[in-house]
Amino acid sequence: MKPGSSRGLGMRLVVVFSLIATLCALAFGYYVSQARQHVGADYTALVTDVVRAQQDPAALRMGLDSMIDHSDRMHLEQVHDVLWRIPRRIESVKRQLRGSELVPASYEQLFEELSYVESRLPALETAVDRVPEEGLDEADGEAILALGMEIEEGLAWAYSELNEQLHQASAEQRVLMGRLTLAVALLLLMLLLAVGAVMLMLLRLHRQRETMRLQSRTDELTSLSNRRWLRETAEQAFEWRRRHGTPLSLMLLDLDHFKRINDDFGHPLGDAVLVTFSRTLERHVRRVDTVARMGGEEFAILMPDSDLAGAEALAGRILRATRAMPLPGPAAHRRLTVSIGVVEVGDEMGFDRLYSRADQLLYRAKESGRDRVVTERDQVSAAPDTDGADRHDGMGITQQPWAGGS
Ligand code: GH3
Ligand code: MG
Ligand code: MG
Repeated sequence: MKPGSSRGLGMRLVVVFSLIATLCALAFGYYVSQARQHVGADYTALVTDVVRAQQDPAALRMGLDSMIDHSDRMHLEQVHDVLWRIPRRIESVKRQLRGSELVPASYEQLFEELSYVESRLPALETAVDRVPEEGLDEADGEAILALGMEIEEGLAWAYSELNEQLHQASAEQRVLMGRLTLAVALLLLMLLLAVGAVMLMLLRLHRQRETMRLQSRTDELTSLSNRRWLRETAEQAFEWRRRHGTPLSLMLLDLDHFKRINDDFGHPLGDAVLVTFSRTLERHVRRVDTVARMGGEEFAILMPDSDLAGAEALAGRILRATRAMPLPGPAAHRRLTVSIGVVEVGDEMGFDRLYSRADQLLYRAKESGRDRVVTERDQVSAAPDTDGADRHDGMGITQQPWAGGS
């Protein structure tokens, strides 16, 4: 698996999640600021009017007192002013109340009281109109004061009651808005959690898919590529070769007398030898080469950008490295050898043909004594070695420069 692939997706998901979280935070901030501005705004204008209207009863009382003491023109006008203002304020308050969110039942009684006050105003106005310039007698003064007090008390009670109700409604609205804000915050949090969970699931799925893909192309024992992956890689390499005209070679390797290792030391140690050999192969190839276990003790190396000479040189190095390779555990005293067939891709070749040619060469290497390289040129190259018995097969074996000395 490419470790970067999951990490890349993880990073992208983190970025997307951060973006969503930021958007949620911005939306929430906007909502809270809007809610703060609007909460209680319904009642603010009404409360202001009511507070102003609350001054009317006191102004009426003062006006009447002054008028009774000095019933001159100025004091009379002052009273008229207040009497002119009162019904207008009552109308304005009533209109706003009807348009407010308050339940009509809650202000019905206030309406009644205000309407009663309104019904008493004409009588007071008439009485004030009749006040003579030279002053009121005591009885008339007391009658006007009594009527004025009735209006004043009615107004004072209605407005203070209304003020109280408005404050209460505003407080309730604030509590409601607080709960609503909490609900919105929880909702956004849940949304973020859900998005996070979906993203984690996506990442996990992606990792599982990557692991499965890796397993489907890897040999379980040696962690090398398997036959299927070598074939797929070869198809791509063929395509690359066709487009760019670069050489491409294949090497098939089969461990010599491997059965004896199993027989003498057991299957598990045989497995360990296969792993050791795999690491040796990996140490000798380039990054572009693909090392695969084809099955059993047979391996292959696909070498893009390598002609026959280059592939042969690598085969020679592997041959020598295998001879020198220390075997694990009780097999440490044993030496292992490998037979190799090397072929370079020709114009007419597909993977199957390439493989079968390399297999034939490998077979010839076995036939001609093992521990050697047979190339496409039908020449068997044997590294000089211990017993020398396998060096020639009478079929045009040639000794290569790289094979010298051990
Ligand atoms: P040759 O030089 O002709 O290739 O002889 P050889 O013994 O290597 O070849 P042969 O085909 O006779 O035997 C191959 C052996 O490889 C037999 C089998 O037990 C062993 N083998 C195949 N796969 C595995 C494996 O995964 N683990 C182990 N330990 N042994 C394996
Ligand atoms: Mg073998
Ligand atoms: Mg074999």
